[in-house]
Amino acid sequence: MPVMAERTNIRLLSRQQIRDLVEEMGQPRFRAGQLYQWIWQRGAAHFEEMTNLPKSLRTQLAQRFVIPRIRLDKLTRSVDGTFKLRFRLHDDHLIESVLIPVAKDNRYTLCVSTQVGCSLHCTFCATGKMGLRRQLTVGEIVDQYVLVNRLCQEHYGHPVTNIVYMGMGEPLLNYKNTIESIARIASPDGYHFSPRRITISTAGIAKQIRRLADDSPRVNLALSLHAADDFKRNEIMAINASNNLDALMAALEYFAGKSKGHITFEYIMLKDFNDTLEDATRLAALCRRFPVKVNLIEYNPTGDGLFEKSAESRVNAFAAALAAKRITVTVRRSRGRDIDAACGQLANKR
Ligand code: SF4
Repeated sequence: MPVMAERTNIRLLSRQQIRDLVEEMGQPRFRAGQLYQWIWQRGAAHFEEMTNLPKSLRTQLAQRFVIPRIRLDKLTRSVDGTFKLRFRLHDDHLIESVLIPVAKDNRYTLCVSTQVGCSLHCTFCATGKMGLRRQLTVGEIVDQYVLVNRLCQEHYGHPVTNIVYMGMGEPLLNYKNTIESIARIASPDGYHFSPRRITISTAGIAKQIRRLADDSPRVNLALSLHAADDFKRNEIMAINASNNLDALMAALEYFAGKSKGHITFEYIMLKDFNDTLEDATRLAALCRRFPVKVNLIEYNPTGDGLFEKSAESRVNAFAAALAAKRITVTVRRSRGRDIDAACGQLANKR
């Protein structure tokens, strides 16, 4: 278990371990529930705040444990109302979350990070260029929700309504902490957030998609598809070499059969690369095996000149070709582009 300044991070203990700890300290059982609530629901950063615990217990806990919390380092607001939040972790690493408000639909979507950087190096993505620095802990993922939810209430008088695991990092490569963070956010003694409003976005790791279907069948899944044939997908997503489209489609079929969650294909429109009508036909063929919605995304250049965004007329023609085959398709115009909070732009420019 990681130790911080010789004291242990108490948020790494499971519920059972907290029960055992309380018992070992000679305290009645109900103290475990109180302690758990302070750590996970009431947002305590110091044991001193836990005023319904005896002073002697608080002192003993403070001698052995710490409660590391992420801290807001920088807040940026886009002209369209999107917020980007940069958080500093206890070891000075920086991560980013994004809050995307769509007030007219009462929809306030939080995009959380699961890793510092990312190991997958997708060519169109700024985070991939950082490489992987480390995994986020369960507490660091949950804290993003807690702090952004507070900001959302303050600015919009509304709580976060949707969470997408689509910030920095590949959530299925920090699998255990991703699943555990969802359990904490969704549980009645956590934040009681409906898993149906949670979406995990993956670059496509077939084995982990099957595992997710077995472990957490109520969340939604978004596959960052971005190309409808292996040749093109290999060019932009290195992960496709070991998880090709056949393997991914079989895994998604399994997910669709087992899970109640919805599946979405995310597809960034890249000029003259994946935006022709032939591409649309190939994409339509992938949509036949299970119910799936296609989300066409406007590309946000990351400054390396590798790709350009598709013309609006191309995007519209592509969407129309899918719709003609009775495929549900939406076009996502970019949000927060002026503050580098748009899809694929999170990379701690500092
Ligand atoms: S798109 Fe996602 S998986 Fe690919 S490099 Fe960026 S963060 Fe990693």
